[in-house]
Amino acid sequence: MRIEQEVKLDYKDVLFRPKRSTLKSRSQVDITREFKFKWSGKTYQGVPIIAANMDGVGTFDMARAFIQEGSGLSVALHKHYPIEEIEKFYTDNGSQNVWYSIGMVKDDEAKLDEFIKRGGEPDKLCIDVANGYSEHFVEYVKRIREKYPELTIMAGNVVTGEMVEELILAGVDIVKVGIGPGSVCTTRKMTGVGYPQLSAVIECADAAHGLGGLICADGGCTVPGDIAKAFGGGADFVMLGGMLAGHDQSEQELVEENGEKYLRFYGMSSDTAMNKHKGGVAEYRASEGKTVKIPYRGDVSQSLQDILGGLRSTCTYVGARQLKSLSKCTTFVRVTQQINNVFGQS
Ligand code: 5GP
Repeated sequence: MRIEQEVKLDYKDVLFRPKRSTLKSRSQVDITREFKFKWSGKTYQGVPIIAANMDGVGTFDMARAFIQEGSGLSVALHKHYPIEEIEKFYTDNGSQNVWYSIGMVKDDEAKLDEFIKRGGEPDKLCIDVANGYSEHFVEYVKRIREKYPELTIMAGNVVTGEMVEELILAGVDIVKVGIGPGSVCTTRKMTGVGYPQLSAVIECADAAHGLGGLICADGGCTVPGDIAKAFGGGADFVMLGGMLAGHDQSEQELVEENGEKYLRFYGMSSDTAMNKHKGGVAEYRASEGKTVKIPYRGDVSQSLQDILGGLRSTCTYVGARQLKSLSKCTTFVRVTQQINNVFGQS
């Protein structure tokens, strides 16, 4: 047994130190990024924020709202839509703002193959498993890369540099980083496994960038400032679940109780998800998820304005004219002692 003594940080453990800046207003800040992906060779231009591939978040309605918003945000579609609906969506809206998602279940790969065989052009793929550390997962990713060299592949989740490197060398363009920080995730409680998210982002970004790869910080953002901290720590993309749940675009039932309106939001391995998807989810995430009530928030456009406005504002405080330079302009100040509640908000 070994104990690592080095301090590891979560978003809540730090704040940005403000810096002198020549920027006069938020409107001068460019929060879009341009990437050329290592393996697919394709390019991406837009605000690098992605809606998570979860029920209530990774929906067609969310993708349409993002397209309408116009700044290049994207949605990882949850994997439970029937193939005919996916085909219709791609035909009507194109592939620019969406990630086709799969897990490691055989049916998922068969459905992707079928979609492509029928002429579907998914362009971007999200391969999502709870534990990205298995050899089996690396082999799976290699096989998908060989089969579809032209697809941009985002895959995970992992939290340490050596595994980021292994996945990039296996053909992943963007490694998804985060084990346990999710708002409806109970992995840390149920398994004792996890890694403080900001440190995971900082360490994994460093490893990925050394190989010409990218990372997506997945989970644990609860306010716009957390998203800025993820980018400040070196994340190329940030994925959001809970912050985008509870909106008109969630495709979930609106419930009214004692005059309060809310929507249910649940982890993709929660009982709720398992019941809804008839047990198919158990294989997707062996670890656990929970169900929460999210107060109804109306249309997602207002929340997006807050998120994008917050990010722009962070950039002005630290003198970053572009999102690209935010991490170079970042000095974090530690604001907590180490003994924290690492189990999220519950
Ligand atoms: P949030 O933005 O809500 O904090 O985190 C979203 C992320 O939580 C998702 O992108 C996904 O990685 C993770 N997640 C979603 N459902 C579950 C679940 O049931 N169990 C676990 N362990 N993680 C989940």
